[in-house]
This record gives sequence, C-alpha cells and structure tokens, in this order.
Amino acid sequence: MTYPRIEINLSLIRENARYIVDLCKRSGIEVMGITKGFCALLPVVRTMVDGGVKKLGDSRIKNIKNMKCSGLEIPIYLIRIPMPSEVEEVVRWADGSFNSEPEVIDLLSEKARALGKIHRVILMVDVGDLREGVMPEDVPEVVGRILEMPGVEFEGLGTNVGCYGGVLPSYENTKILVDLARDIEKRYGVRVKTISGGNTATLKLVENGRIAPGVNQLRIGEGILLGTDPTNGRNVPGTSQATMVLKAEIIEVKVKPSKPIGEIGRDAFGNIPVFEDRGPMKRAIVALGKQDCRIEGLIPLDESIEILGASSDHLLLDVTRAKRDIRVGSVVEFRMSYGAMLSLMTSPYVDKVPV
Ligand SMILES: *Cc1c(COP(=O)(O)O)cnc(C)c1O
Repeated sequence: MTYPRIEINLSLIRENARYIVDLCKRSGIEVMGITKGFCALLPVVRTMVDGGVKKLGDSRIKNIKNMKCSGLEIPIYLIRIPMPSEVEEVVRWADGSFNSEPEVIDLLSEKARALGKIHRVILMVDVGDLREGVMPEDVPEVVGRILEMPGVEFEGLGTNVGCYGGVLPSYENTKILVDLARDIEKRYGVRVKTISGGNTATLKLVENGRIAPGVNQLRIGEGILLGTDPTNGRNVPGTSQATMVLKAEIIEVKVKPSKPIGEIGRDAFGNIPVFEDRGPMKRAIVALGKQDCRIEGLIPLDESIEILGASSDHLLLDVTRAKRDIRVGSVVEFRMSYGAMLSLMTSPYVDKVPV
C-alpha cells in the first residue's frame, strides 16, 4: 500500500448518481454529470455514466480531450466559459460549451466552420451570483447575434448560483431563465432546447417542487461525488457521504507541550500563529501537507482526533483521546470537503484508488 491515498467507492458513487438522476427525471430534468472535481478520472466517469448520467461537463479542455480519446460516446460540454486561446481545442473536443462573450462565440463559429463542425452554445445568464453570464436584460440581443452565426447552434440558456456570491437558488431566480427562454422563442421563432438551471445547490428546489417549471437540466458534481451541498449547509437527502476516504500514514508520535517554546515569528506561510496552552498532548505527524491538500476541508473519521494544523508536508494531529492506539506507521482516515477533494485529486503525490 502507498500513502497518501484516496479510496473512491465506485458503487456508492453509482448509487448517488442513480438517486439524483431519478429525482430529477421525475421533474423532467436531465443531469449533466460534472467531472472536474476528480480530474475526469476515467473509472469514476464511467461510474457516473453507469448511474444514468446522459451528458458530461468539465471545466478543463484537457479533461474533455482525455475523455473523448478514451472512446466515451456521450456528449461532453465545456462548462467554464472558453478562453479565446483555446477555442480551436474546444470545437475539436467538446460537443458544446457554456458562454457569455459574443466575441468568443464568434471565434467558436469561425473555428467550427473551418473544421466542418456544428458547436452547441448555451448562453450563461447572470441572475445575481455575479460570476459568469450576460445580464438578463441583454440576453435577447445576444441570442439574436448567436442565431446569425454559422457553425454554432444556439442550444439554450444556463445559470449558476451559489458558487461565488453564495446566492441561494430560488423559484424566482430560476424563473428568470425560463421567462427569458419563452421570450426568445416568441421573438425569434426558435425552440430553446436546454434550460440549464444550476448545480448541486439547486437540487433542494427540485426536492421541494420549487424549481421553475421549464428548467430541464442541472449540472451536478458534488452531490454525486460526496453527497454534500455546502451552499445549503446540508447533506443531499438520499445520498451517501461515504464515497471517498483519504488514508494517510503517521511518521511521528510524541507527547509534547501544546504551546511552542521560544519567541514567535511567522510560520512558513507568513502568518503569526497563536496557540492556547492545553498542557502536554500526544501529537502525531501525518505525511501529508498543504502541498497535497486544502487541510481545512479534512474531517478525521475518528471524531476524537483533532487536526491542529499543517505545513507544506506535515499534518499535525492531537491524538491524546484517539479511540485506537496511534503509533508510527498507523494509518488515519479522513472524509473531505469538495475543496479538499479538488486539491487531493490534483496532487500527483496522492494515489487515487477506485475500490
Ligand atoms: C463546478 C460547476 C458545476 C457543478 O457544481 P456542483 O456544486 O459540484 O454540483 C456546475 N456548473 C458550473 C458552471 C460549474 O463550474
């Protein structure tokens, strides 16, 4: 065994996907499975597809290229609005993309024509979270421009909340999208095929029957992968949170004081640390650090273990009250937040092991 390792329980992820796909289907909503959280690792991608996901989305073109080259047949979309410098790759590898800049859509149109392809475009609308998207009042005019561009097909509208501004999904903000779609259909005599109403946080509206009728797609990553919904501060009902476990190895165990000895300057990251004197404690060092992981997002499975802090390569634990005997070579287990998962998956020093 090699450590640190992240063990990925594929059958639980498949069940989470199946549960969410079924929940959405009952409201006429398709699920786009979002693969960026695990760098589109192929066994996990295939598990999402087994779980009933009919489309995939990723924010990185490298991941999309990798999925396409592996022979996956289902449509894959670029969900981060494209960089002008990557439009050729986008047209080549992605079936469609989410966009907000007419200039970039123009470039996509040019490349699609050159490559003899039709690239699908979903226009992002900013309903208040202030990340990507056209302001609602500008949407009809921008759609008019897209409809005139050869090589691209205007597929529909999308929105995202709960990521930057922390705005909660609501009937009102999802209704903005549906109203705009109906307006476009009337004005231009086209069908708006896709209304992509949000991410994991929007599942709550589906459960409560509070999503605006007409929304027919959600883009789901975290709910499938971890069963968590931090925007609403909850677990997604009906899903498992035991999908991924980080296992890491202990390299030192000693009883030491809880307060450092000597004059305090700055730590390795430039912060002035503050410590409370709690008397002597049994401290363990785990071979894992800030270079591998967003430490704040780790949760020890043994609740009596406390995370004290970390430097680049060392994670410090208080194991005074640990249930199990902790010694050098022991392996400790953690659950993780989406942020911690992202960082661990991206680190080449962490093994990713589907089980
Ligand atoms: C990451 C992302 C998602 C998925 O969000 P989850 O909270 O993981 O479901 C959906 N849409 C866009 C545009 C994203 O960037």
